[in-house]
Amino acid sequence: MEHPVVVSLQDIVVDFDGEPVLTGLSLDIHDKEFVTFLGPSGCGKTTTLRVIGGFVQPKSGRVLFDGQDITNLPPYKRHVNTVFQKYALFPHLNVFENVAFGLRLKSRDEKAIRSQVLQMLEVVGLKGFERRRVTTLSGGQQQRVAIARGLINRPRVLLLDEPLGALDLKLRKEMQLELKRLQQALEITFIYVTHDQEEALTMSDTVVVMNGGLIQQIGSPEDIYNEPTNAFVADFIGESNILNGVMHRDFLVEFAGREFTCVDKGFAPNQLVQVVVRPEDIQVVPAIQGQLTGVVRDVIFKGVHFEMHVEQGDFEWIIHSTRASQPGEMIGMCIGPDEIHIMPREE
Ligand code: ATP
Repeated sequence: MEHPVVVSLQDIVVDFDGEPVLTGLSLDIHDKEFVTFLGPSGCGKTTTLRVIGGFVQPKSGRVLFDGQDITNLPPYKRHVNTVFQKYALFPHLNVFENVAFGLRLKSRDEKAIRSQVLQMLEVVGLKGFERRRVTTLSGGQQQRVAIARGLINRPRVLLLDEPLGALDLKLRKEMQLELKRLQQALEITFIYVTHDQEEALTMSDTVVVMNGGLIQQIGSPEDIYNEPTNAFVADFIGESNILNGVMHRDFLVEFAGREFTCVDKGFAPNQLVQVVVRPEDIQVVPAIQGQLTGVVRDVIFKGVHFEMHVEQGDFEWIIHSTRASQPGEMIGMCIGPDEIHIMPREE
């Protein structure tokens, strides 16, 4: 069952110095959901987060929280906390006091503060670190303090702005799993900003793909990966082969110089389309058996698979395969109907 909407953005417009940044953005975020804003640098992810937090005032549009209009409410009156990429910890305070800060503002009694802080430090894996100065902690430990501080008041919604951006790859992957576990255990709505598509696909219930201040697609990680709505999403989410094609009739599309059976229907006869084929969905076969043939240009070992660039006519295919072909070799390629994703062609 879908949870009720907690945050609703309605037709949000934001300009900076007369430059449009968000141009009428609307979005519903559900309670207990892990939502990620994903898009290239400058597309408006952080600005959207800041509108929800109350740090940026939209020029027009409304922000609703549990159905109440909070557009003009200051940040500290919203049931929302923020974890910033740069942690923003207080260097003169120890770990305990950094986490306790939000509770002290609310003048909770000392015993309650102590038990809540110790419990939260345990949740984020920092039991025993209470007295440490935050300046003596590693990047990953500082990030945990920032997360504990964001969660200590049990906000309904936690905003996270590229919180793992400063960590090395291994630690980032560990923290991704931990954040997901935390979010599920505490049942708090997480709204997360990243430009890393793998991070978005790993952690989210819902991914919001943005470009140029507009939402391109909203969906589950599987939907976004398997059924991109346009070439921008297909290209941004993982590597893709994107070709122009013509949809002759239901279940029959032409691209790369030949016809293919597909599972799509409902297009106009001979409608111009774009065809997306993921690199891992192309089967490499002997040249004589291929629906298409091409010449291998290069082969790169990627750990779990080989990445090959294959020239076919004037198109260069990217193929992921567990078996390497040789540069210069002529290979065959087969693409099953389920592996062909079709989108109307954009002008
Ligand atoms: P990144 O991943 O690089 O952080 P982003 O998608 O989060 O990018 P935003 O930070 O929302 O993008 O910025 C969107 C646009 O608004 C950018 O062109 C940015 O330069 C501009 N912008 C953001 N904040 C301000 C500000 N306070 N004053 C002027 N322009 C701003």
